[in-house]
Amino acid sequence: AKEEHGNAFQFYSREMSEHALERAELESALRRALERKEFELFYQPKVDTRSGRIIGAEALIRWHHPERGMVSPTRFIPMAEEIGLIVPIGEWVINTACAQNKAWQDAGLPPISVSVNLSARQFNQDDLVDSIASALESWGLDAKHLQLKLTESMVMNSAELFITKLQELEDLGVQLSLDDFGTGYSSLSYLKRFPLHQLKIDQSFVRDIVTDADDAAITSTVTSLGHSLNLKVIAEGVETEEQVAFLREHQCDEMQGYFFSKPLPARDFASLLRKH
Ligand code: C2E
Ligand code: CA
Ligand code: CA
Repeated sequence: AKEEHGNAFQFYSREMSEHALERAELESALRRALERKEFELFYQPKVDTRSGRIIGAEALIRWHHPERGMVSPTRFIPMAEEIGLIVPIGEWVINTACAQNKAWQDAGLPPISVSVNLSARQFNQDDLVDSIASALESWGLDAKHLQLKLTESMVMNSAELFITKLQELEDLGVQLSLDDFGTGYSSLSYLKRFPLHQLKIDQSFVRDIVTDADDAAITSTVTSLGHSLNLKVIAEGVETEEQVAFLREHQCDEMQGYFFSKPLPARDFASLLRKH
């Protein structure tokens, strides 16, 4: 009986463990990825709707796994959040983005702002503001050339704490953008109390603006709402000329998406910016 039990357990655990093993392997590879310098930032241009010029870039992390090749951030960022690694990875992202932006300026490229995604766990670190201030200081980057992308999930614990932290960041002089707007929980009454500079309309709304009347209504309404609150509005996931025309007509301030460019390695982004 003992043996039967053993076999049953073995059978049961084999399927489970393949999954768990793969995950454990990925996790331990992730723990070593920073020191092994396997991360890279890609940069996707953000375009001013009126002038058509590149006015910024969003930094998006890439992980070159030694055996698996490129692992998507949608896979490893949630994992990094669970095991707390998102804090050192997030610091690396901020430092790398600040260093890169300063290097582009020093090379004589037109000054742009670079935006970075923050995760909720990173945002809630007590030393977030200090660590951003010291990144700016050590690279000599003007705070106005760094934009932080925040999400509604950061408000969940306490709106008061959230606002206090936003004010500290605003005092630092960085730009604050509320990401994935409309997909979360935040109420409109909060929105007017947040010291923000920009709203980002999520690509799930932008995707069908040309064919879906509801998405068109949401996008144009969010744009007007943003403007009446004195915020700039940016649309992400812009892939077609028709979407560009719609966003231009509705006076969305900035656009980002494959229509303009995919996220690019730093070198390629710099040549795009130089040619521009
Ligand atoms: P996100 O913040 O919503 O970033 C936009 C995603 O849409 C990016 O995917 C980008 O490459 C992709 N994208 C850009 N233009 C288009 C388009 O025209 N059409 C479509 N279909 N997609 C487009 P990516 O780079 O794979 O990143 C996925 C997610 O991973 C990001 O979603 C963000 O939540 C997270 N992420 C990426 N980099 C970082 C980072 O440095 N820190 C943190 N905390 N999260 C990051
Ligand atoms: Ca984001
Ligand atoms: Ca998004």
